[in-house]
Amino acid sequence: LDRFKQVNDTLGHQTGDMLLQDVAARLRQQVRANDTVARLGGDEFTVIISELGGMETAQDIAHRVASNICKHLALPFQIGTHEIVVGSSVGVAYYPQHGQTYSELVKHADLAMYRAKSDGGGRYVTFTQDMSEQLHHRVLLESALRDALRRNELQLVYHPILNADSGSMVGVEVLLRWHGHDRKVSPVEFVPILEELGLGHELARWVLANACKELMAMPFWHDLSFWFSINISPQVLNRNHIGWIEDIMAEYGMPPERLVVEVTEDHLRYNPELAINTLSAIRGLGIRIAMDDFGSGYSSLGRLRDFPIDLIKIDRSFVNGLPHQQTDLAIIVTIITLARELGLELLAEGVETEQQLQQLMENGCSTIQGFVYARPMPASDYVMWVSDLNPPSALIN
Ligand code: C2E
Ligand code: CA
Ligand code: CA
Repeated sequence: LDRFKQVNDTLGHQTGDMLLQDVAARLRQQVRANDTVARLGGDEFTVIISELGGMETAQDIAHRVASNICKHLALPFQIGTHEIVVGSSVGVAYYPQHGQTYSELVKHADLAMYRAKSDGGGRYVTFTQDMSEQLHHRVLLESALRDALRRNELQLVYHPILNADSGSMVGVEVLLRWHGHDRKVSPVEFVPILEELGLGHELARWVLANACKELMAMPFWHDLSFWFSINISPQVLNRNHIGWIEDIMAEYGMPPERLVVEVTEDHLRYNPELAINTLSAIRGLGIRIAMDDFGSGYSSLGRLRDFPIDLIKIDRSFVNGLPHQQTDLAIIVTIITLARELGLELLAEGVETEQQLQQLMENGCSTIQGFVYARPMPASDYVMWVSDLNPPSALIN
């Protein structure tokens, strides 16, 4: 059943129990007398249909029954004075091609059912072999990732940000890396998984703490005045308590003005008020906020005014279009004007070529991050890279 938990939570278990009985009755109406309807637990039912040897194939029967189940369970239930709408997700598996044993068959129907749910519910999905391969892959990845975080096997890399006019380094973005067992796994893939595992917060703490530790140990850290930025996903920041940031900064003696927290437009999407409060509190600590991937997500320019940010990072999808795409250039010029009008700092990321760099500078954006200068590097390479740079960075007065 879709949304059964909400019924239990809001209307109580007694109502939930009565609903389950009515669901069972409706399910029975959709099958023949010698088919089986069972409730294995919670809000999950199993239907076993046998082929009777008529004109219909097993597939025809299963599709008909599954779609009827979805249709009938989507109709409202009247429980006491409540009219309840739940709906259902159905997974279909066939004997013998999807499983030789009962448990294999049910397991595969289950996987198909989860796919139906994750596709939005209210539908049926037939099992395919790649679902079980995907699940297998995912389970392996999850356990390896848990271990990686606990055993300190993640790594940080440093991506310098330069002032193109002076050639000096003004900042550095800290990015995560993970070398899985057989391949490098992108943070785009593994960060969301850690978050789904409930480890997003632990990850964010790990990143901030290790960035502080590594940076403070760099020979030039105390002489140069560049800032560093970390990425924090919405799930972690929307908790509204940010004491952990303060604690870690204090533990390492990291001055707050040297940290920039990068957020995306997604942070502001679901609960803008909470996001404003959280970001304001972070700024209250003396930490600056950057709007990452600006222009690529959900933007409300009007709202931008209300958000406590200091810096805008032009999304690299626009920079990508330079120097030839006129519309990308037009968008970039607009963002540059906007930042200037709002008194915000600005940088362009994903700058790969000399031409892109020139075009950005000509249009008034001189703070640059991208492969044109360097690729993200592990701490030791970064230290060497900085010591070779001339001039290195703004000196602390
Ligand atoms: P992002 O925050 O937009 O990070 C910038 C990404 O653009 C990085 O990829 C960086 O290597 C890449 N990049 C920078 N300049 C160039 C360029 O000139 N050309 C090209 N092709 N790429 C460039 P990366 O490190 O793979 O990170 C991807 C995303 O993963 C990040 O996007 C961020 O959303 C996420 N991520 C990385 N580290 C963390 C982290 O510590 N915490 C969280 N929550 N997310 C992270
Ligand atoms: Ca970023
Ligand atoms: Ca970005």
